[in-house]
Amino acid sequence: MDGSIVLYPSPGRGHLASMVELAKHILRHHPSFSITVLLLSTPPPDTHFVAAISASHPSITFHHLPSVSVPNSDHLSSSPAKFIFSTFEIVRLHNPALHQTLVSLSMSSAIKAFVIDFFCNSAFGVSASLNIPTYYYYTSGASGLASFLYIPSLHKKYPESFKDLDVPIQIPGFPPVSPRDMPMAISDRSLMVYRHFFDTAVQMANSAGIIANTFDSFEASALRALRDGLCVPDRATPPTYCVGPLLAAGGGIEGGGERHECLGWLDSQPTRSVLFLSFGSMGVFSTRQLKEMALGLERSGVRFLWVVRVPPPHDEARRTSAELEPSAESFLPDGFVDRTRGRGMIVESWAPQVEVLSHGSVGGFVTHCGWNSVLEAVCHGVPMLAWPLYAEQRLNRVYLVEEMKLALSVTDSEEDGLVSADELEDRVNELMRSEKGRAVRDRVLAMRDAAAAALGDGGSSRAALAELIGSVKAGSGKVDVSDSV
Ligand code: UDP
Repeated sequence: MDGSIVLYPSPGRGHLASMVELAKHILRHHPSFSITVLLLSTPPPDTHFVAAISASHPSITFHHLPSVSVPNSDHLSSSPAKFIFSTFEIVRLHNPALHQTLVSLSMSSAIKAFVIDFFCNSAFGVSASLNIPTYYYYTSGASGLASFLYIPSLHKKYPESFKDLDVPIQIPGFPPVSPRDMPMAISDRSLMVYRHFFDTAVQMANSAGIIANTFDSFEASALRALRDGLCVPDRATPPTYCVGPLLAAGGGIEGGGERHECLGWLDSQPTRSVLFLSFGSMGVFSTRQLKEMALGLERSGVRFLWVVRVPPPHDEARRTSAELEPSAESFLPDGFVDRTRGRGMIVESWAPQVEVLSHGSVGGFVTHCGWNSVLEAVCHGVPMLAWPLYAEQRLNRVYLVEEMKLALSVTDSEEDGLVSADELEDRVNELMRSEKGRAVRDRVLAMRDAAAAALGDGGSSRAALAELIGSVKAGSGKVDVSDSV
């Protein structure tokens, strides 16, 4: 045995699934480690997911942290800023329980590495006090990481909040970024969440290393900036290990279950003819936007598979709906489903996205640019139409469209963020039927092959994993945690 690696994901199924993929990947290539995934007591973890992984991968141990009392956890369901703030807080409140757990786990086997995601930043102080080398798992890509680590430099460089700037923002490795494309959580300096992100960026630069879910040739300019030290200009940048792309097929649980009916429908469609529209785990639209989308799709004449959700609770049509649990379909224009029957399919709430993207009938993907969705599209060679919604997705779009040229983009109104039916119709036609769209598809197909090569024998991601494991075995990176700048 080479000792143990402890992984610490923040709350939420997405973060847990990403960490579990990393655990599986390490064990696949380095089975001599034991891996423990720590689970927070609040909010309670997805027990179905944990049980399924425990059954399929018994070498991954799940350890529940002792429960702690968390005031105001209802914030988790309110605004995005409150959600982010509460997530950082919940992790911080677990620190005494974490300390106790790390001490007791160390008694049975030396902890060679503690891997946290960025919401678990406050845990770094705990592991550092126990002299355990701490790594971050940055579940997004190198371009996101470059901009994240650069927050303290941006703070010095620009005197105002991004929301008040009207000049393009210069980030190493990036094309110029409009202030409007900066993530909401850091757009206003007066908010507590800004402080959390700022502190995390400072702290991350003190870690033993950063593991990123990407591969070297995918985000070359951002990686160059990181490795040349441009994103952390005042000290040494920790090593960045690009071990990806790691995909969680079937939401992280393999096999089982019946084949979704949308896959049967795709079987009957011509090769690469279907446009898939899906907006991550949280993407929702107003009724007004859904109607514009439906109209644009209908007019384009393109075949489509569309994951539709009911609009948010504050939406006018939702508030006035007589039904207690209305269907998503009831918010679409009258007759839309009948008029597009045969060439279009609506799926309520959730589709098996990875299986859909790997289906030969899918020829385009309208995506919110969540990082997992981007990797899934690239790994299956599907060109994208970028329609970012939240988190760092607008920034991902800039890199994806302008730097990598793997996606086209819809333009939304600066006033209310609405994408019109005409705009969607034009962009869909461009992606699915024009030379420009074909060129994007050719680049995505080349990138699909590059991703496979990176993960294969002798590939850059395998080399990065070997380097990471070398660092873990050597016990490098026992750094002191510093105070925030
Ligand atoms: N997903 C899915 N079906 C859906 C919507 C999303 O399987 O209908 C999966 C998708 O394949 C991806 C994840 O949910 O693995 C979403 O992650 P991403 O990083 O793209 O976006 P987020 O949900 O974090 O915004």
